[in-house]
Amino acid sequence: MQAGQLFIGGTWHAPVSGETYATINPATEEETARIAKGDERDIDLAVQAARKAFDSGPWPKMSASERGRMVWKLGDLIMGNLDELARLESLCTGKTLFDSAKVEIPFAAEVFRYYAGWATKIHGETLALREGAFTMTLREPIGVVGAIVPWNFPFLLASWKIAPALAAGNTVVLKPASLTPLTALKFAELCQEAGLPEGVFNVVTGPGSRVGMALVRDPRVDKIAFTGSTEVGKGIMREAAGTLKRLSLELGGKSPNIVFADADMEAAVKGAMTGIFYNKGEVCAAGSRLFLEERIHDEFTAKLADRVKGLKVGDPMDKSTRMGPVVSAQQMETVLGYIEAGKKEGARLVAGGARARVGNGKGYFLEPTIFDQVSNQMRIAREEIFGPVLSVIPFRSVEDGIAAGNATTYGLAAAVWTRDVSKALRAARAIRAGTVWVNAYNLFDAALPFGGFKESGFGRELGAPGLEPYTEVKTVWVDLS
Ligand code: NAP
Ligand code: MG
Repeated sequence: MQAGQLFIGGTWHAPVSGETYATINPATEEETARIAKGDERDIDLAVQAARKAFDSGPWPKMSASERGRMVWKLGDLIMGNLDELARLESLCTGKTLFDSAKVEIPFAAEVFRYYAGWATKIHGETLALREGAFTMTLREPIGVVGAIVPWNFPFLLASWKIAPALAAGNTVVLKPASLTPLTALKFAELCQEAGLPEGVFNVVTGPGSRVGMALVRDPRVDKIAFTGSTEVGKGIMREAAGTLKRLSLELGGKSPNIVFADADMEAAVKGAMTGIFYNKGEVCAAGSRLFLEERIHDEFTAKLADRVKGLKVGDPMDKSTRMGPVVSAQQMETVLGYIEAGKKEGARLVAGGARARVGNGKGYFLEPTIFDQVSNQMRIAREEIFGPVLSVIPFRSVEDGIAAGNATTYGLAAAVWTRDVSKALRAARAIRAGTVWVNAYNLFDAALPFGGFKESGFGRELGAPGLEPYTEVKTVWVDLS
């Protein structure tokens, strides 16, 4: 990887500004790398390269099977470089090396392999509508895709965009989050190694308000695929109107995890833990509102509080660690601010609530935190905290639980826990969210679409629906008379 450089048109370049910035290891507060500070001028060059690769390069014209093989090869190269990619991801994000090496990076490789198979299965239809005409549809790539991704699953969320975009014959400019660009840059190196034609994949690092916005505004970019906060998503939607760009937006969430009294309690307690503390709660689908049926509330919260004591916070590179530091000092302050708000609004703190001291006292470590007796009206229940803070909210009846779960502007994910199949399925239908887990939390598969209802965004990633936003449908009408 080239320190302080951008990957444009198949080669490494210094940014036009000539400037760099530092990324920080959240576990030690030390500098990890110097990163190029790109701006509008670098986006101009990257979009030009991606445009050229699409308009006159070999990529969109290549046979589908050859393109599929190339996408598969990228999946192989990701697995071949698993250790390094996982280490880079953990260095920037603070997530455990175990999560990077066993979950995130292998899943990203799987996404490339899954969409590699799709390359030869993208097709239109023939519609025999009338005697005097031959009518059909073609499914074509959209063109240049601008992908903008956040810092919580930097490489995985990039793969959800890059793999289907490439399989369908598009070219890509990726803008990683400023805090976590290392795996994107390493992946550029793998694209070189794979022999991906120049300009098909480009990476520009730098501040979102400049680099990201320049991508959104550029009339030569055909589509923006964005994952990030609802606030920035809304700004992107407003700006994209200028060129009527295609958009897919995967935004925030405040997902309800609803436990009915007849649930398998041990399983539900474990599920509630993973739901909120996996990846330090920096998960868009995090089960941050835990709804407990009144009858089981006391026993359940006691078990939860007990289990939290065993959750080891510490060095992400240490095998026994279950929760690393949050991503940055700023994120730590935001989360601590929400903890104060929870206390002020009268929620009962049953676990955590402060910084966790690890080693020499450096690092952005937080205790896993649980508030009980939260109401849906409190800020900690309404706003996305994006940290290890759980709000427990009691409810009386099945209908109340579902209604309270739905009482949010978000609709990304939800879970219900019950042994009653019909109750589970009725709840699954009634919940307004893009994913509903039953007796599970945080399960994903490359073949299953993921995305939001309401202000959690629109468009789906993964599965067949995750490919569609990277294609345009064209109708061809041949007159036979
Ligand atoms: P963010 O501030 O919205 O940033 C996301 C990306 O957008 C980053 O690459 C950022 O660049 C860039 N960006 C920032 N301002 C921009 C602008 N004005 N124009 C264009 N791009 C801009 O989100 P974040 O703080 O990285 O991540 C946390 C949020 O992401 C949470 O709200 C979470 O729910 C959401 N999220 C959603 C999903 C999902 O699948 N629905 C998944 C993960 C995360 P910089 O890093 O340079 O600011
Ligand atoms: Mg941000």
